[in-house]
Amino acid sequence: MAIDRWRPRQGYTKQEEALLRRLRQTKKLFAFLRDHRHELFDDAFQAELESMYRDTGAGKDPTAPALLAMALLLQCYHGVSDVEAVALTVVDLRWQMVLDRLGSAEAAFAQDTLRGFRERLIRTDMDRRLLERTVEFARRTQAFDWRKLPKDLRVAIDSSPLEGAGRVEDTINLLAHAARKVILCAADLLHWPVERVATAAGMPLLLESSVKKALDLEWSDPDAKAQAVATLARQIESLAAWLRDKLPEEMKQPPLKEHIDTWAQIRTQDLEPDPSGGGKTRIRQGVAAERRVSIEDPDMRHGRKSKTKRFNGYKRHIALDLDTDLIVAGAITPANRPEEEAAPALKVDIDSMKRRIAELHIDRGYIASPLVSEVIADGAEVICKPWVPRNGNLVTKADFKINMRDMTITCPAGEIEPIDLGADVEFDAQACDRCPLRAQCTTAAPGTGRSVTIADNERLQHRLRKLVATPRGRERLRERIPVEHSLAHIGRRQGRRARYRGTRKNLFDLRRTSAVQNLETIDRRRAAAESTTYRRAA
Ligand code: SF4
Repeated sequence: MAIDRWRPRQGYTKQEEALLRRLRQTKKLFAFLRDHRHELFDDAFQAELESMYRDTGAGKDPTAPALLAMALLLQCYHGVSDVEAVALTVVDLRWQMVLDRLGSAEAAFAQDTLRGFRERLIRTDMDRRLLERTVEFARRTQAFDWRKLPKDLRVAIDSSPLEGAGRVEDTINLLAHAARKVILCAADLLHWPVERVATAAGMPLLLESSVKKALDLEWSDPDAKAQAVATLARQIESLAAWLRDKLPEEMKQPPLKEHIDTWAQIRTQDLEPDPSGGGKTRIRQGVAAERRVSIEDPDMRHGRKSKTKRFNGYKRHIALDLDTDLIVAGAITPANRPEEEAAPALKVDIDSMKRRIAELHIDRGYIASPLVSEVIADGAEVICKPWVPRNGNLVTKADFKINMRDMTITCPAGEIEPIDLGADVEFDAQACDRCPLRAQCTTAAPGTGRSVTIADNERLQHRLRKLVATPRGRERLRERIPVEHSLAHIGRRQGRRARYRGTRKNLFDLRRTSAVQNLETIDRRRAAAESTTYRRAA
């Protein structure tokens, strides 16, 4: 059965003209989308959206995919929930006009339809195409003078923190929350009241509304806290034994298995045997690698904005085309992962647009990414602040002269040594022993010379050090500033806290927000280009 194609009207009614006169002053994107919806969602792109349904073999959706895609853009622009989005298709003239439904008293789609469409976009990775489509669309407009723009991309990458949507809990509450999920699931499977399961499983702590209320201790007292952990651990073991006895088969399959796996993950990461012995358990000292911080959102992690400021959730990364200010790719990583891990995903999305990177503007967080060596091998230029070598109060590597052509290093006292990439170089011990600068250069024991590490990417570091040493080089380093502005706009639109749970759904939201931002950029540039043309003609 054929899927309905969205065929919005191109001509304007009197009511639309009146609405557009107002919307060209404020909330301009509504007007832009009304003017260009048929170009953004042309037949070819609508066919792509329809292919999502053929690929999955799912039944026909009565609502045109392009109309739902437009609704998702409006939802992001307006910053509303699914239920509000459905209501706005009835009560908001701007939504009705853009969706070509002025005067309709019926909602354009059901809440489930919108959610199902979003999940389908994510499953088929078509949210990437939605972002890509805005860049393709830009090429067809008068917003940019494409003949004057470079063929290859000058890309800048940056990231910002995104607080996760899941509740962050301490160890006691995490363990209790995970156990409560297990007990709820077991109660469902056995058709028992939850209280009966908690009592039978030997976990009466969960009969109270809060586990801390049930433990009723003075939490600032370390002994009381240790006692609480011991009580909780004992009841957890009791629950585990009860499950093995009562639901041995159910434990091996969903849904109970998923809850048990989460529970086991929290126990492993947050508890450890007490070294005082006696089979006792204590809260783990230090933080486990990949520590889960939320039951509701398994992908969230602890991260750092700076040495002192922490956050829980994700990092959002964008790649910006510096010549058009259009976002060409987005990526989401858990907050504890280094920036460099996002770079390959960004490159995959840029590659899918069949564009080559000619310049890559990054900060030091991305420098260790394989993307850097990849683009250098492809003849591209990497622009980044150089590393700042530190060595306490002693002279640093920056005080040594490295000659990459001769592959030598010269120390402040004029001693010369050959260097190899990726290897430490040690200066002659006798020369260092008699050197008058020794006290400022090294704390090595007499008979040992000063050593300097030569990185694998020393050639790149050397070039970056030369770059920052010149006014022109520093000007080039500032060329990445638009990506910081763009990321700040994304942050304002998305808000401090993620709308969704999980890495993939938040990637969808980032791509969608980037698509909306691109459309606003196109509108702004188009208006500026039209105004210039008008002034020239006048
Ligand atoms: S201590 Fe050794 S490396 Fe340092 S300045 Fe003197 S000779 Fe050079």
